[in-house]
Amino acid sequence: MKVFESAELLRRWRNRQKGRVVLVPTMGALHHGHEALIQLANRRAGPHGVVVVTIFVNPSQFGPNEDYDAYPRPLRHDLAVCRAAGADAVFHPPPGAMYPDGFSTFVEEVSLSRTLCGKSRPGHFRGVCTIVAKLFLLAQPTHAVFGEKDWQQLQIIRAMVRDLGFPVSIVPCPTVREADGLAASSRNAYLDTGERRHAPAIHRALLEAARLGSPATIVRKATALIRRIPGARIDHIAAVDSLLKPLRNRQVEGRLLAAVFLGKTRLIDNIPLPPLP
Ligand code: AMP
Repeated sequence: MKVFESAELLRRWRNRQKGRVVLVPTMGALHHGHEALIQLANRRAGPHGVVVVTIFVNPSQFGPNEDYDAYPRPLRHDLAVCRAAGADAVFHPPPGAMYPDGFSTFVEEVSLSRTLCGKSRPGHFRGVCTIVAKLFLLAQPTHAVFGEKDWQQLQIIRAMVRDLGFPVSIVPCPTVREADGLAASSRNAYLDTGERRHAPAIHRALLEAARLGSPATIVRKATALIRRIPGARIDHIAAVDSLLKPLRNRQVEGRLLAAVFLGKTRLIDNIPLPPLP
């Protein structure tokens, strides 16, 4: 497995590839969710393709009071995970390589980014789109894998690819969960023992609410259930359509999304709301 810190070396290596190049952008602190992304990337790459994992804690997607400095950076562990999951290359640039002095150009999606997590984390998706666009230009992937755990992010990346014409196929990866249902996340490490015990109740609440009929009833039920979780503070709970607008009925595919603080840790999760027959 190659490890690149220099964009120029990554670019040269990439230009020698003849088959598919499948990119897996991450911020590191890799867990079995990321492992599933890399394995899916391998299947997409096929016998002649390669998988490139990027590990970069992207400063521009963190707000001023968020956890940029505290975000875990266990590089040796991450490289071992990438190797075991079958990555061909890891790109791990220093911040200055991605954001040279004087950096002043950003990529911003201005519709889907305005709602849900975009409301509580202003500038977050601008940071995400900017770094993903830059990684696409550097690595020139044919495919890129993104997790459904970050549902809004996935839809925004799809919009960016469509709008700017990036020649990249976006491959979604289903959410990977712990045995008790909690969505795997690097931020789960922030939870104390009590919070960790209560955290799976978020997913359970979504599942229980989704059994009801109308989107409004579902959201009310999920809200009531999550309010009962000790230490939980709801950021948002929403049933949305494919454009992230409030879901009006159950004739179309929807998604039930939640962002919930447990103590200081902000957890997100989502599940499908399939159309009713
Ligand atoms: P992150 O390192 O948290 O920025 O995530 C990198 C990629 O992994 C994103 O595409 C995430 O959506 C995806 N991801 C993170 N956690 C999970 C999970 N539990 N299941 C599926 N994908 C995930």
